Amino acid sequence: MNILQSSNSPHADESLGDYVKRLRSSLGLTQRELADSAGIHLQSVGKIERGRTVKLNSRSKIALAAAMLVPVEYLEAICRGTPVETVSQLKFCARCWTPGTPPNSMWMVARSQFCFLCGFRLRDCCRHCQEPITSLKHRFCPFCGTTYQEKADSRS
Ligand SMILES: [Zn+2]
Ligand SMILES: [Zn+2]
Repeated sequence: MNILQSSNSPHADESLGDYVKRLRSSLGLTQRELADSAGIHLQSVGKIERGRTVKLNSRSKIALAAAMLVPVEYLEAICRGTPVETVSQLKFCARCWTPGTPPNSMWMVARSQFCFLCGFRLRDCCRHCQEPITSLKHRFCPFCGTTYQEKADSRS
């Protein structure tokens, strides 16, 4: 699964509508499929893509981000009109995450610091070399080779 590629982040001059439309087509989803997987109304997706909805409530943002496999911070940044560079990076629970799968959207909520499932502190950098984690396509840190997944009994 090719998630969290840099092409998935919003472009500097992209509107919310253009961004959602671009991601939706890159995932090969119809408006209805995106609406269904995000659990929002088809009409709402249409309005967002036509630029008639420019603000999303946080529930829709989280659901849409999860359906489009991007961090919710991307949608927050584009709604705020702030540059993507200020978007915080990937965060995940090293215990509950299954390698090769997208991170749970609940981990990506900007305010969350601990896993909602097990209470383990969420990681946004390699536990060994502290390099930021930018992609969970990899199972290992590209800088030092430490595995991202941690067993429940390993020390943090
Ligand atoms: Zn966890
Ligand atoms: Zn590392």
